Amino acid sequence: MIQPVLQDSFARKIKDLRISVTDRCNFRCFYCIPDEDIVWKQKETLLTYDEIILVSEVVVGLGVEKLRLTGGEPLVRKDLEVLIERLSKIRGLYDLALTTNGDGLKMRAGALRSAGLNRITISCDSLKSETFKNITRRDTLQSVLDGIEATMAAGFPPPKVNCVVIRGMNDGEVADFTDFARATGACVRFIEYMPLDNGHQWDRQMLVGGREVLRRIEERHKLVSIDRDSPSETALKYAFADGAPGEIGIIAPVTRPFCGACSRLRLTADGNLRTCLFSMVDHNIREHLRRGETRDQIARFMIDTVLKKEAGHRINEPDFIQPPRTMSFIGG
Ligand code: SAM
Repeated sequence: MIQPVLQDSFARKIKDLRISVTDRCNFRCFYCIPDEDIVWKQKETLLTYDEIILVSEVVVGLGVEKLRLTGGEPLVRKDLEVLIERLSKIRGLYDLALTTNGDGLKMRAGALRSAGLNRITISCDSLKSETFKNITRRDTLQSVLDGIEATMAAGFPPPKVNCVVIRGMNDGEVADFTDFARATGACVRFIEYMPLDNGHQWDRQMLVGGREVLRRIEERHKLVSIDRDSPSETALKYAFADGAPGEIGIIAPVTRPFCGACSRLRLTADGNLRTCLFSMVDHNIREHLRRGETRDQIARFMIDTVLKKEAGHRINEPDFIQPPRTMSFIGG
């Protein structure tokens, strides 16, 4: 019998599931989450660890190789290490990663490593306390920097550090982040600001395109292009021509969409599958899980959902409509 796999109607295979473990976050990044009057999901709507494990086992059985835990802020979900330990034991899973804001990571990096986590990506949009505070509405830059250092001390590979570049906020720091990559050995990835923002204030003027970021870096350091790990990797990657440690990644979903090679599926904290960050529909897997459906039935639901995956986002089309959920409520 041929083992079914997750493949969409454009022959793209799904290899990567991003699992949001909570919609809650301890930061209030102005573009991602409101500062007040937030309506969090009711606790009982959030998938339990048993439900997340079941979905993960089913997707790995359908060919998914990589799981990434995200949120909200995944470190605020109680006993995340317990979930990681259980996920890390799934046979056939090659990579278990975490995306975090890094706050408090200093205390937990060792436990996350011991639990079986393979890699950590840390979001950090500024290396200046004041700007960091303006963006995140939290005064925790030092804790994030300590977290980055702690990942390496705990034996993780050099972290990816994700920086969303927003004109007039932190675009003056591109070269400083580049120096940070060279000093720490991290891979700093500059991400284009996407129209997924809280308050729907996004405006193309705020976007700093990948090309412009590269130009700014090369005013200080010459780069050489390096191969991506896989064709579906979102970042164009560069090393420093003078052989310094660290890498640079450019993620340009707006000016250089990579939908054609997309291998991703997302699971929201409240148990909805999303086939694209910009989907206007959720596919509720929670009700299938809570109805007590068999693994085969859950697998069938996933296969059918993936067949509905969009060809690509339509950010650059005149009919683009911004989805109601921001990254924090989807799982970035
Ligand atoms: N709390 C975790 C963190 O900070 O990494 C995980 C969730 S957060 C939503 C994941 C990533 O999405 C962060 O790097 C954040 O900067 C990014 N993000 C959120 N909204 C975005 C937008 N409109 N455009 C580009 N990146 C965005």
